[in-house]
Amino acid sequence: MRAEVSAESAEEIPRLHLLAMVSGMNASAYALAHSMLASQRVASLKGQDFVHGTPESAAFSKRWGMQAQRAGAYVCNHCIDEDLSRHPFSWFRRSHHLIGVDWCPEHGSVLHKVNASRPFDALPHNWRDENKTSPVSAFQASIPSDGFYRRYVDIALGLLSRERPVECGVKRPGFRGGQLV
Ligand SMILES: [Zn+2]
Repeated sequence: MRAEVSAESAEEIPRLHLLAMVSGMNASAYALAHSMLASQRVASLKGQDFVHGTPESAAFSKRWGMQAQRAGAYVCNHCIDEDLSRHPFSWFRRSHHLIGVDWCPEHGSVLHKVNASRPFDALPHNWRDENKTSPVSAFQASIPSDGFYRRYVDIALGLLSRERPVECGVKRPGFRGGQLV
């Protein structure tokens, strides 16, 4: 991809931005639709709440743009079945890679982990066909419908669609008249 981008600064361009370019997408739109950047970079320092994927936030795209939040690759058997009923292939989903969310938000069933050293080298149905997926040890068989855990799932999912981090202005403490203010 870098060879395709003839600009001198191609080496500096984050991989996320390169993927957006070859997909014919705006980098911010690509970051929101296809990366987990929004759930990695939830908060920012004051004045640093740049929209994900913009040139100002290139350092963050470089650091977190290609990372899943949860280690490993996860699949949902129902999602695989639905994908294959409409397409000749299946695909991984961002919502299956959130820390603490052990169920498919769409189907409510427990996710399965891919047992392979390079789990993104093949598609979800390939791993299932090879018998290389196993269910994660969730504390209940289906997604919680209420209570604290349901709220956590909703917040974790909601963070994925934020176009910029939450700005957190921290006032440095100082002394005035001998008092800490
Ligand atoms: Zn599913």
